[in-house]
Amino acid sequence: MPELPEVETVRASLEPALVGRRFERVEITDPRVTRPLDPHEVAVELQGETVDAVERRGKYLVFRFRSGRVLLIHLRMTGSLLHGRNGTLEDDPYRRAVVSLDDGSDVTYRDVRRFGTWLLLEPEEEVPYLMERLGEEPLGDRFTAAALGARLRGRRAPIKAALLDQRAAAGLGNIYADEALWRAKIHPLRPAGSLTPREIARLNRAIKAALRAGIDRQGTTLRTYRTPSGARGSMQDELRVYGREGEPCPRCGTAITKTRAGGRGTWFCPSCQRETD
Ligand SMILES: [Zn+2]
Repeated sequence: MPELPEVETVRASLEPALVGRRFERVEITDPRVTRPLDPHEVAVELQGETVDAVERRGKYLVFRFRSGRVLLIHLRMTGSLLHGRNGTLEDDPYRRAVVSLDDGSDVTYRDVRRFGTWLLLEPEEEVPYLMERLGEEPLGDRFTAAALGARLRGRRAPIKAALLDQRAAAGLGNIYADEALWRAKIHPLRPAGSLTPREIARLNRAIKAALRAGIDRQGTTLRTYRTPSGARGSMQDELRVYGREGEPCPRCGTAITKTRAGGRGTWFCPSCQRETD
């Protein structure tokens, strides 16, 4: 599933292609993309909108229009956006929407599992919608150790599960949460509220470092994720613990162990990340 680094890679790639462009024709062929709203009605609403900015908030892509409205796209499990000249994109049974731009190029949306969503919001709806769902941007200045500590205080859930809550660190998901905990040498099953201020400071830095590493490598391609030009990311070759059960820890050589936290597969080094010190 695309996490912050993958969504940021998509954003950075789409930005130069979309800013200043008008949505000339929009076709949304799968009702699940816009439900409960009618996909054709949403498509008609989008036609004529001009893109002012392509931003990202957590795992949401934010297409900001000149009209003040915004389109929030969440890729969920397998959503992806491709950009190319009209007619150059191959036929695709998983294509759910096509946006034809006024410069003769298309942005197509494909989604195998169909959990991704497009939500068109009026100007006044955006801030409350995102505030309710998302905490601080982990790469922003306001994501300090104190801010992270405030989100974890009193929580008995395992730290790994707490980090997947988008209100703790917007955009973090299963891969980068494991990578961050390894970097910070924190056991994923530690109760979130039991972390010391020093550990929280370490974790704060580790989250930023893990996410930056992912962005530098254009994200992690495990299954379907692609950049809008169709390229794969390369972070999968650099993961330290995620998905590496039985392989040696890059720091100490101990075999990586797999457990579950918050219902999700979770990888860690049992030597570097001890449950009690
Ligand atoms: Zn280790």
